[in-house]
Amino acid sequence: TTKYKLTIVGSGNWGSVASKLIASNTLKLNSFHDEVRMWVFEETLPTGEKLTDVINNTNENVKYLPGIKLGKNVVADPDLEHAVKDADMLVFVTPHQFMEGICKRLVGKIKGDVQAISLIKGMEVKAEGPCMISTLISKQLGINCCVLMGANIANEIAVEKFSEATVGYREDKDVAQRWVQLFNAPYFQVSAVQDVEGVELCGTLKNVVAIAAGFVDGMDMGNNTKAAIMRIGLVEMKAFSKLMFSSVKDTTFFESCGVADLITTCLGGRNRRVAEAFARNGGKRSFDELEAEMLQGQKLQGVSTANELYEVLSQRGWHELFPLFTTVHEICIGRLPPSAIVEYSEHPPTLV
Ligand code: NAD
Ligand code: 13P
Repeated sequence: TTKYKLTIVGSGNWGSVASKLIASNTLKLNSFHDEVRMWVFEETLPTGEKLTDVINNTNENVKYLPGIKLGKNVVADPDLEHAVKDADMLVFVTPHQFMEGICKRLVGKIKGDVQAISLIKGMEVKAEGPCMISTLISKQLGINCCVLMGANIANEIAVEKFSEATVGYREDKDVAQRWVQLFNAPYFQVSAVQDVEGVELCGTLKNVVAIAAGFVDGMDMGNNTKAAIMRIGLVEMKAFSKLMFSSVKDTTFFESCGVADLITTCLGGRNRRVAEAFARNGGKRSFDELEAEMLQGQKLQGVSTANELYEVLSQRGWHELFPLFTTVHEICIGRLPPSAIVEYSEHPPTLV
């Protein structure tokens, strides 16, 4: 019988939690090899030790997920090519801005019939338009790529608090089911929908709304304002997704990847937290500076996604259709003050 070998490409905050979820399942399920390989972008800790060595010695990612045991069958590997070469299934979970470079390095280095899944929230923008990360992976590596998104703040899942997630797949339901099996836990309920673009766009776009929610918090504007921003954001998320891909399903927005992820990120995410600090400082300290200080190596996705989205809106002449998305970027780059986030509410968008 086939036993699939798993490699996780990425070892940040969510990447480490993903390895914990998967490693506990590969021990229980016969169709997977017990060992889970995790590629670590190597760094030297203040103690002088290599992060990979510390993970392998202590079974903990002391930098990105301190205090949590990953499972003894997780093996950290600093060599990307070595980490992927025998894998039958690849889980991609790095900050989105590194994926183009990683994909380039992987061309010709993986087995031919690999299945992939992306947990990455973000997109790349090319002259010809936006490219979702799962599409980047699929195209560059010539492999099928599902996505997993959801209301999944990593630190909460790390301590096994109940949550849900959504797998998005294109054609192959059996493959999607295999991914569901691999991630599912009593405290992590995964379901699959045949709408890979819808699921991935939900996960990506909600990070921009979370930046807006953080601005509202930084100006102490209260819950009604924040709920209004979340509602308008959801309308823009749906309108943008459907303009990009007519196949996107309405029902996807009611899955964990949709409204639930929007809510949790606007209440408790890193994008929200750093955007709050940005607004409290009246925009005087940059996001880069605040990110480095507040997140200590973890990465924001919402600020660069707002930039990428802005490029797409410019390319297509869609700024007026998406006032919230547009305004978030203009605040992030200092062209508008944080208070601008509510000013356009005098002109409510009439999107369907
Ligand atoms: P993170 O924010 O913890 O980022 C740190 C990681 O980036 C570390 O592994 C670091 O080694 C790596 N890194 C830094 N520089 C690098 C480089 N030049 N090349 C490659 N890697 C580099 O990462 P994360 O929380 O695991 O997030 C990964 C993805 O998962 C993101 O798209 C994020 O939106 C998504 N996500 C995160 C959470 C969460 O709660 N953390 C939840 C759901 C989804
Ligand atoms: P933040 O990156 O804003 O923490 O959001 C995490 C997330 O995607 C939760 O699902």
